[in-house]
Amino acid sequence: MSQTENIFSLVKKNNLVNATASYYWLSELYNNLPFDKQNDRIQLNTGKMIANGIFYYKDDYPDSHVLDDANFLLNYSNPEFLYIHTMNIDDNGHKHGSDSLTYHAKVLAVDSYLADYLPQWLEQGYQIIITADHGMDFRGNHGGTTADVREVPLYIFSNKVDKRKYSTPVSQLMIAPLVCYLLDIKPGEKMKRLELEGIKNTSEDD
Ligand SMILES: [Zn+2]
Repeated sequence: MSQTENIFSLVKKNNLVNATASYYWLSELYNNLPFDKQNDRIQLNTGKMIANGIFYYKDDYPDSHVLDDANFLLNYSNPEFLYIHTMNIDDNGHKHGSDSLTYHAKVLAVDSYLADYLPQWLEQGYQIIITADHGMDFRGNHGGTTADVREVPLYIFSNKVDKRKYSTPVSQLMIAPLVCYLLDIKPGEKMKRLELEGIKNTSEDD
């Protein structure tokens, strides 16, 4: 299990509520190890690092259901921080490669689910970050150093970042401090200092 300060622990430390709809790894990383399918799939008001979680353990658990689970958690627990982690794009990328009809169809499917949910969540006052932890190559791998597996989009919906298109690459090590900035909480001591174009006011060092 993670021994390092992370966004979930920081949110908890600041007496804010966190939630996640994600693959069971997240439960293993922060709440219970090993994952107990019979009891760990749905965790509400746990008092643990993740307060509210709905975890799936099959790679083909539909992305639509993950988004629906997330929306349930959003309305059930009113979390300040909600982390959503889908798997169908990655799963189909491994099976068929990135240059396949299936892979593209899975991307478009998530796009359409987000088109339904994003306006609602923004209306409810949420700031939203959409990104990926990696891309995929045409053979179905993502462990290398090439642009197709290393470079992913980063979308930020927030009044705290200037709205325009940026071409400067952003390190993934900026994601955690970015979340802290949007939540207005002090980042973890081991997190990098946030450096991001478009930040409206730099967070304090205190
Ligand atoms: Zn993968």
